[in-house]
Amino acid sequence: MRRLFLLALLILHTSPQIANQKGFVGRALASAAQSEGAHRWNELAATGLGFSGSPASKEMQELANAAQEAVGIPFENRVPVRQGSTDGAAAIADFNAIYINPELFAHQDNPHGVKQCDLHHEAVHIKYHDSSCSIFLKLATNLGAPLLTCALQPQGKLKALYPLSLLVGIWAGRLVQRNYMFYCERRADSEGHYATGCYMCVREKAKDIKGTLECAHQIIQRCQETQDLNPDQKKAQAWSHDFIKSKAHYLSVDENEAIAADLEKQRKLCAFHKTAERTS
Ligand SMILES: [Zn+2]
Ligand SMILES: [Zn+2]
Repeated sequence: MRRLFLLALLILHTSPQIANQKGFVGRALASAAQSEGAHRWNELAATGLGFSGSPASKEMQELANAAQEAVGIPFENRVPVRQGSTDGAAAIADFNAIYINPELFAHQDNPHGVKQCDLHHEAVHIKYHDSSCSIFLKLATNLGAPLLTCALQPQGKLKALYPLSLLVGIWAGRLVQRNYMFYCERRADSEGHYATGCYMCVREKAKDIKGTLECAHQIIQRCQETQDLNPDQKKAQAWSHDFIKSKAHYLSVDENEAIAADLEKQRKLCAFHKTAERTS
């Protein structure tokens, strides 16, 4: 079992692309994350957490409910949408709610497809209890190495293994949590995009990411050409670097467009874009 876990860890670390395919590792992780045990652990992690912010509009609740239904979350496990702190993201999934940033997400200029892709992405995080599973993996790997050392009961000079195993446990915990998080983001993109059932929605999302990435690169370029940046320029430069770095762990623009092309081949369109197509 331990060998199996280490093998899964190695595959996750060395090739996130492989793990995102619907192979053995992907299926095993998905079924573990949807198990009754994972659901109970998520409830435990959410104990006493409560909600922050305020409830999102009725329209957003309906969109998020439909997204959660589309990704296969049973009615009793669906979570509400709140407007609140999102750490600079348009939307995030917590243990017990999806939080949206009203300025970045719910405004009129945000294309319907971007909202849909983002809500379906967060719904996939909820489906697989990604926040609580990530904490569980970190705890398990942090404690795994010291517990194993205790079980082996090293004697004499080998007692030096105790502090070493503690360090290895902490290192492994960080590594596992980091790579599991990257894996979850790609899974949420891929599964969420397909769950929108609309090539136009995914195409709008791909266009949005492409545009924002181009904008971030332009900001960096301009900042490199400017001497003595003012505080706002420094802030924009830092944001651009963070955005480009964070997007490396999600599906690329090309991968988003490939999903859109696949959905187009299947002639998949949502009700919103069907209406838009008829009236255009
Ligand atoms: Zn995400
Ligand atoms: Zn659509």
